[in-house]
Amino acid sequence: MKGQFPLDQFKNLDTPFYYYDTCLLQETLDTVKLQLKGQDQFKVHYALKANVNSEILQMIRKNGFGADCVSGGEIRAAIQAGFKPENIVFAGVGKSDWEIELGLDLGIFCFNVESIPELEIINELALNMGKRAQVCLRINPNVKANTHANIATGQAENKFGISLHDLDKVMECVKQLKAIDFVGLHFHIGSQILDMADFRALCNRVNELLDRLEGRGIRIPHINVGGGLGIDYAHPNRQAIPNFESYFDVYDTHLRIRSYQTLHFELGRSLVGQCGSLISRVLYVKEGTNKKFAILDAGMNDLIRPALYQAYHKIENLSSDEALEAYDVVGPVCESSDVFGKSIDLNKVSRGDFMAIRSAGAYGEVMASTYNCRSLPNAYTSDEFI
Ligand SMILES: *Cc1c(COP(=O)(O)O)cnc(C)c1O
Repeated sequence: MKGQFPLDQFKNLDTPFYYYDTCLLQETLDTVKLQLKGQDQFKVHYALKANVNSEILQMIRKNGFGADCVSGGEIRAAIQAGFKPENIVFAGVGKSDWEIELGLDLGIFCFNVESIPELEIINELALNMGKRAQVCLRINPNVKANTHANIATGQAENKFGISLHDLDKVMECVKQLKAIDFVGLHFHIGSQILDMADFRALCNRVNELLDRLEGRGIRIPHINVGGGLGIDYAHPNRQAIPNFESYFDVYDTHLRIRSYQTLHFELGRSLVGQCGSLISRVLYVKEGTNKKFAILDAGMNDLIRPALYQAYHKIENLSSDEALEAYDVVGPVCESSDVFGKSIDLNKVSRGDFMAIRSAGAYGEVMASTYNCRSLPNAYTSDEFI
């Protein structure tokens, strides 16, 4: 299916650029809201790190989602897009003093804290400012997610979170700190997870922990299970909207939340991944030894996921209906890893053809760089072409 792209209008634009389909984004957000209907205890925050395009942020905010930030810059972006401080959570293993002060100053909902030294600094800064900080402790649940090693975060070997063994010590520490209000527990086991068994494993671990803490009379009003739901990179059209029903059902069925508890989610990729494509022109078709290269004007500086995580993105030639031929699709950057796909079947490629690299709405534009002194890619939303 190629009809979804306004190709005629692309012809007036410089490439490469990101193109965001806001209709698909709205449908995706509607699906999440539908699945949450009647579940007052569930609350979804959008993980800004996936994409901070201002129109996307505004749409997500207008649909009633909160914001999950991992830096002071993201907190500012969230505020600028209209998110209220009380709907912002702030995570990250290394928060700078100014970032903590920004969060305290704004009165964000909570800090997801990953270590005792961080707790102590938040306490100190809050005392200096005459403020209190609500904190959730990020626990490393030691659950292995079935995903690429670079995006698995929930095992003991990862830098993230507080080890289960240290939890008692940390809870003791929290009690001593005058400006800290403990409000809950936070978890996040990784990203691009499609096997619901991984989320079930997290539920089981959280259940054990809740029983243990509740047994000691500790009340935990908020549980945040992070994000991580994956998207179908192989079939962006067939499965444009992730299976939120089965995702939320896992938590509904397997997590024994108490009536006074709120369950928070931090969804990034699953909300925005499929709505974005990187649009590029073909510069040259080069005959190599036993293969053909389609050389694009987009490179790894525009979309680094293939080079960084060996990620697969479906690639389509929007300009051709001719017979399929196999190409290695590469960028112009001086790195051998600047490859979007090897032996990819594409309708016969010619110079000037428009190529769409699909499912690039998450961890695409936000990771772009100016490596090789290249410009940052532009971005357009489908609204701009009506
Ligand atoms: C990255 C991240 C998310 C979002 O992950 P997705 O896989 O994009 O849903 C949520 N919470 C935390 C703490 C994260 O680091």
